[in-house]
Amino acid sequence: MFFNSFKFVAFAVLLSPATALFADAPVVIAHRGASGYLPEHTLAAKAMAHAMGADYIEQDVVLSKDDHPLVLHDIYLDTVTNVADLFPDRARDDGRFYAIDFKLDEIKQLSVTERIDLKTGLAVFPQRFPIRKSSFSVPTLAEEIELIQGLNHSTGREAGIYPEIKDPAFHRQQGKDISRIVLETIDRYGYRDKQAKCFVQCFDIAETKRLRQELGCKLRIVQLVGGVGYSQISTADGLKTVAQYADGVGPPIARVLSDVDGQLQPTNYVADAHAAGLVVHPFTLRADDLPRQVASYQQWVQLLFQAAEVDGVFTDFPDQTISALSQPFLDAQSPAEQN
Ligand code: CA
Repeated sequence: MFFNSFKFVAFAVLLSPATALFADAPVVIAHRGASGYLPEHTLAAKAMAHAMGADYIEQDVVLSKDDHPLVLHDIYLDTVTNVADLFPDRARDDGRFYAIDFKLDEIKQLSVTERIDLKTGLAVFPQRFPIRKSSFSVPTLAEEIELIQGLNHSTGREAGIYPEIKDPAFHRQQGKDISRIVLETIDRYGYRDKQAKCFVQCFDIAETKRLRQELGCKLRIVQLVGGVGYSQISTADGLKTVAQYADGVGPPIARVLSDVDGQLQPTNYVADAHAAGLVVHPFTLRADDLPRQVASYQQWVQLLFQAAEVDGVFTDFPDQTISALSQPFLDAQSPAEQN
C-alpha cells in the first residue's frame, strides 16, 4: 500500500512538469491558413481555418518598404500576386519583385492568387483553388490579428496566432529590423507572455536566440529546423542548447519519421526534444501530397501523434487533421489489415 502510493506520488512528480509543458497537445496549426482550400495567407483562408477549429493560425511575416509587417510567405510578391502585370518595371536585376521595394498602398492594389510555379505559369497544387480567380489581397499582420481576435470574440472559441519572422538577415541587409517590428505589433494586440495563445517562430538560429536574449521576448518561441546547417542543433545535446532560448522546435516531418524497410518509424528526435523540455511541431502535412508509405491521411496523422508522439503539426488541411485525431487510432504498422 505504502509502496503503491509512494510510486503514485513519484510518478506524479516525474510527470507533472512534462504534463504542464505539453498540456495543449495535440495542436493543429493551420499552415498559411486553410491553404489546401483557399489561396495561402489570404484573410479568407484564415477565416476558414478558424471555422474549421484550428488551434493556431500561422502568419509568415515580411516587411513592406514603409515598414508594415505583411502576411506573405516569401520575400517576393511574384509567385502569389499579379505584381508583374501592375508594376512591370519594378523587378530587381534577378527578375524578382520584392515586397520590401513596395509601399503598403501599392501592395494593397495587388490581387492575390493561388500559388503559381513561375517556370510553367501553372498552379503548384492543381487540385486546390483555381489560379487568378475571385478577389483576394495581401493582409497586414495587424489586419490578420484583428480578424482572428474578432472571430475569437464572435465564435467564443480562441484560436492562437503563430507568426514566423521571415529571413531576418535579408531584412537587416535592407536596413530593417523585422523582429523588433513584429514583436511590437503582436505586443500591441496583447500577446506578451507564455500564457498568450501565441508561438513566435524563425529558421535563423542566431535571430531566434536574439528574440529571447536581446529583444526580451517572453512569448513561447519555436526554433524552426531545416536540412543543411541544422544537424548540430538536432542531436540530443543540440536540442538542450535550443531549450536554453526556445520552448519548441519545428522540424521537417522527415526528422521525426523515417523510412525503415518501406514503413515510417519514429526517430529519436521527439524523445530527445521532449527530454530537453521542448515541444515538437513538425511541418507540413498535405492531404494532396501523401508520403508513399502511408495509405491515408488519417494514418499519417496518427503515425505522427501516436507513434512519433509529436505535440502538434503544421497542416494545409486543418479539418482533415482534426477529423483524423477524433477517429479511433488505426494499427499504424499494419495498414493492410484495416478494412
Ligand atoms: Ca511558415
